[in-house]
Amino acid sequence: KELTDVNYLASEYLNLAYQSFKSKNEGVNITLITELDPTISKIELVRADIGKVLLNILNNAFYACTHSEFLIQNSELKPLVTVSTSPLQGGRGVKISVSDNGPGIPDSFKEKIFQPFFTTKPTGQGTGLGLSLSYDIVKAHGGELRVESQTAGEAGEVGGGTVFTFYLPITPST
Ligand code: ADP
Ligand code: MG
Repeated sequence: KELTDVNYLASEYLNLAYQSFKSKNEGVNITLITELDPTISKIELVRADIGKVLLNILNNAFYACTHSEFLIQNSELKPLVTVSTSPLQGGRGVKISVSDNGPGIPDSFKEKIFQPFFTTKPTGQGTGLGLSLSYDIVKAHGGELRVESQTAGEAGEVGGGTVFTFYLPITPST
């Protein structure tokens, strides 16, 4: 583990993920917003592992708000992904969120998405391993990964959207 500036790590992986997305999805644009709180504490973490968590969640968010079926049904919607960081109360750690304005996750799937091999993506486009791996990595750092999401019906509008949030605690240095 290395003492890490989470804002820097988040921007770095957002750029990496979006470059990779752009190279595979020519002509599809996503508006990216970052709301990185400069006052958050540095965190002891395994950079490559938390990087993987960020990549998985970002790739899911990019896919959610740009896959063809969704874009055809919501042609007026501008794909939007926001990455934000904030301190946990009392400086106990940091909170990292990735939100998208995609179709949302039905309640009946919310439990299953963290299970290995659960995917709703077409064959060949998803392994269903991203979130289960991410969940384990965040747990191994003493944190927690959560989802909040609304489908169109629940929200009463198109694109209820999804927010994945994970917490990383400061490890007491003793
Ligand atoms: P994969 O991306 O290979 O399908 P994941 O474990 O990353 O596997 O995600 C599992 C499932 O969770 C996805 O297939 C999708 O149904 C759902 N999901 C994950 N992120 C989002 C999101 N941002 N919006 C809507 N659904 C999502
Ligand atoms: Mg995935």
